[in-house]
Amino acid sequence: MHSKDLSRRIFIKDIGLAGLSIPLLPLHCDNPGQKISNMKDNKNKLGIALVGLGNYATGQLAPALQETEHCYLAGIVTGTPSKAINWKEKYNIPEKNIYSYENYDSIKDNPDIDIIYVVLPNAMHAAYSIRAAKAGKHVICEKPMAVSTQECDEMLAACKAAGKTLSIGYRLHFDPYHLEIKRLGQQKVLGEISKINSSFSFVAPKGIWRLDKRLSGGGPLMDLGIYCLQAVCYTTGQVPVAVTAQSPPVTDTDKFKGVEETLDWQMEMPGGLIAKCRTSYSENSNQFRAETTKGWFEVQPAFGYSGLQGRTSAGKIEYPRLSQQARQLDGMAQSIKNNQPSIVPGEMGRRDVIIISAIYEAMKSGKRVEIKY
Ligand code: NDP
Repeated sequence: MHSKDLSRRIFIKDIGLAGLSIPLLPLHCDNPGQKISNMKDNKNKLGIALVGLGNYATGQLAPALQETEHCYLAGIVTGTPSKAINWKEKYNIPEKNIYSYENYDSIKDNPDIDIIYVVLPNAMHAAYSIRAAKAGKHVICEKPMAVSTQECDEMLAACKAAGKTLSIGYRLHFDPYHLEIKRLGQQKVLGEISKINSSFSFVAPKGIWRLDKRLSGGGPLMDLGIYCLQAVCYTTGQVPVAVTAQSPPVTDTDKFKGVEETLDWQMEMPGGLIAKCRTSYSENSNQFRAETTKGWFEVQPAFGYSGLQGRTSAGKIEYPRLSQQARQLDGMAQSIKNNQPSIVPGEMGRRDVIIISAIYEAMKSGKRVEIKY
C-alpha cells in the first residue's frame, strides 16, 4: 500500500469502531505553494460559489475546496472588491464567476455554478438562500439556518419550489469522532446514556456582528451552543420534548446589550434524560461527555476543526487529522450527484432553530418550555 494511503487510514485504539460510510479524503494539497488552477480536472465536479468571504470561507471552506473530489470552488459573491481581486488571483476564478450582492441574482444564468454556499452573518442566511434557490441552484447554508422558524419555512419552501436541495453546514456530521459518539450513543455500545454534559464557549471580542442581534439573531447559543444541542440530538438519536434555561447576570453590560453573555440550559429527552449544556462569549470551554449505564464516552476538545480528542471507559478514540470541511463538501456534493437526501437537511436546521427559540423562551420566562416541532 502507498504510504499516503496508510496515512489516510483510521487508527483506533482499544475499542472497535463502525466502518465510516464516508471515504477519507486526501489530507493535504500536494503542492500548497502552487497557484491553484481550479478550472482543470473539474469536469465531473459540481461548481460551488461561496457567498460572503469572511473568516470561515477564507480560512476553512476555500482551502477545503482545493481537496475535494466531487465539487470545486467555481465562483464567489462578495461585497468587498479587494477580496474579489485577491480570490480571483489566488484561486484562478474567472471574472464571469465573480458576483457582488447587487448582481447576485444573475448567477441564475451561470452554468458553472451548481451550488451556492451562504456564509454570511446569520440574519442574512434566509434572504441569500432564497435568492439562491430562485436562481435555480442547490443551497448550502451555514448554521444557524436562520434567525426564526418562519425564515426556515420560507427557505424550505423556496428550495422545494425550485426543486433544489437545502443543506446546513453541520460539519461535525462528517467528522469521525462525532460519527463515533453518535454510534456509541445510538447503538448503546456502552449501555444507555444516563447523563450528558456539554459546553462550547469562547471570549468574543467587542464590535463583531456576533454581538449585534440584528445580524446574529442571538448570542453564543446560536453560534456555539448549537453544537452542544446538535451533539445531544445525534448521540441520543432523539429530540428534546422540553427545555429549561438560565442566564447568569451579565458581567459586561456595554458589550452584551442585545445578546446573552452566558447561558445554561437543560434539554429534557423523551426517556427522561436531562442533558445539561452551557455556552458563553466570556469564557473558554469545548467539551462533550456522556455517562452511560456501563461506562462513559467523551470528546474534549469536542467542536473545533481539528485537534479533537476522544476517550471512553473502554479506551481511546483516535483518528488521523483530516479536513472536516472537505468531507462535508464532498458528502453534500455526492448526495446531490446521486440524487440522495442530505444527511444535514434544511429540516434539521429548522428543528434546531425551534429548539433554540424554546431555549430563549425558557431563559426569558424562567419556565419549562415544551417543544412542538
Ligand atoms: P465573518 O464576519 O468572518 O464573515 C462574514 C462575511 O459576510 C464578511 O466578511 C462579509 O464578506 C460578509 N458580510 C456581508 N454583509 C455583512 C455585514 N453586514 N456584516 C458583516 N459581514 C458581512 O463571519 P464568519 O465567516 O465567522 O461567519 C459567517 C457564517 O458562518 C455565520 O453564519 C457563522 O455562524 C458561520 N460559521 C460556521 C462555522 C462552522 O464551523 N460551520 C464556523 C464559523 C462561522 P464580504 O466582505 O465578502 O462581503
